[in-house]
Amino acid sequence: MRRIAILGSTGSIGTQALDIVRHHRDLFTAQVLTAGSNVDLLIRQAREFQPDAVVIADTSKYQTLQEALADLPIKVYAGADAIEQVAALPSVDMVLTAMVGFAGLRPTIAAIKEGKAIALANKETLVVAGRLIMQLSKQYGAPILPVDSEHSAIFQCLAGEEGNALERILLTASGGPFRLWPIEKLQHVTAEEALKHPNWDMGAKITIDSASMLNKGFEMIEAYHLYHVPPERIQVVIHPESIIHSAVEFADGAVIAQAGTPDMRLPIQYAFSYPTRLPVIGNKPLDLFSIGTLHFEKPDYERFPCLRLSFEAINRGGNVPCMLNAAGEITNAAFRKGLIGFLDMPRLIEKALSIASFIASPTLDDLFATDTEVRALTSSLIS
Ligand code: NDP
Repeated sequence: MRRIAILGSTGSIGTQALDIVRHHRDLFTAQVLTAGSNVDLLIRQAREFQPDAVVIADTSKYQTLQEALADLPIKVYAGADAIEQVAALPSVDMVLTAMVGFAGLRPTIAAIKEGKAIALANKETLVVAGRLIMQLSKQYGAPILPVDSEHSAIFQCLAGEEGNALERILLTASGGPFRLWPIEKLQHVTAEEALKHPNWDMGAKITIDSASMLNKGFEMIEAYHLYHVPPERIQVVIHPESIIHSAVEFADGAVIAQAGTPDMRLPIQYAFSYPTRLPVIGNKPLDLFSIGTLHFEKPDYERFPCLRLSFEAINRGGNVPCMLNAAGEITNAAFRKGLIGFLDMPRLIEKALSIASFIASPTLDDLFATDTEVRALTSSLIS
């Protein structure tokens, strides 16, 4: 029985993770559930899964949560500090980091320091503090199991290949809803259009980042930290069908790819059950005959400058990827509110990255300071 803390249980990844727990009750328990502010869904989840503890980040919702669960032996907490504490509880074996954004960093560190296995969906953790996180994971013996479909694919391709150096990673990308749009048209993209992803049903922030391809830039940084492959050997490959979830190339030229229907329950479940493979409930088998043809294209750095900015951020190193994340979160939220245009996002990120204070070897405290600085800076650039 694996006892799992699901941080961000009310989101896209969180609800799919609970679907897996629901269908494998003999193997997994949802030991802890946490949410940002969606108290109604958290209450329903708590009543169904009977966790040890629940946390709502929004402290104004504490009383509602506590009253609704008063008849059950569930510990109820509120606030960001409580999320950190429940991630480190002795009764937890594994932590699924399915919170969105920078808020995922502290609880992930708390869990790693207690040696918990980390099923990592919150890619922002590795973008912001990849070097420190990988060091801590090694130091505390806390394995990191990737949930992002591309990184899970790479992880699966590398099974049994210990000792064989990776030549290249082929990181696939659907290209998002604007793959074929000319730059003139991209200027007028609305949030509503950007929120319609062709292949994946995800939370709002990552859907916008996928449309701008900042998400693919984040994934390149994530792959760099997880698999120790320098950025120039990570090739982004546009693959609109999202059937090949990524591939790896070895010294002999062999390329191993992982393929499947686009369904996040597969990589989530693989992280939960690793190294065992279990049936995924409801996942349609891959039917290559109905797909017929797979396409591959080069990414366009002109129309999708966030990709270029991500490569520059990892090459500059230090606290620059942390700046990229902070500026990305602020511009993403501003675009969704209609305050800025689609192409303003990369423009403002680039500006923020050129102004913010550079630190070559940042400590964790430096990264928190960078995050604060760049959020304020980007907000002032917007206004
Ligand atoms: P969602 O927006 O759907 O869900 C986010 C979750 O985090 C919700 O439970 C939300 O609570 C909670 N949350 C939001 N803000 C805070 C906060 N400040 N403190 C605590 N909890 C908070 O996001 P996704 O599920 O799409 O993504 C989650 C993570 O997984 C992201 O890092 C994303 O990049 C990554 N990921 C997602 C994929 C996907 O298919 N969705 C694929 C690969 C990676 P509430 O509901 O109350 O707001």
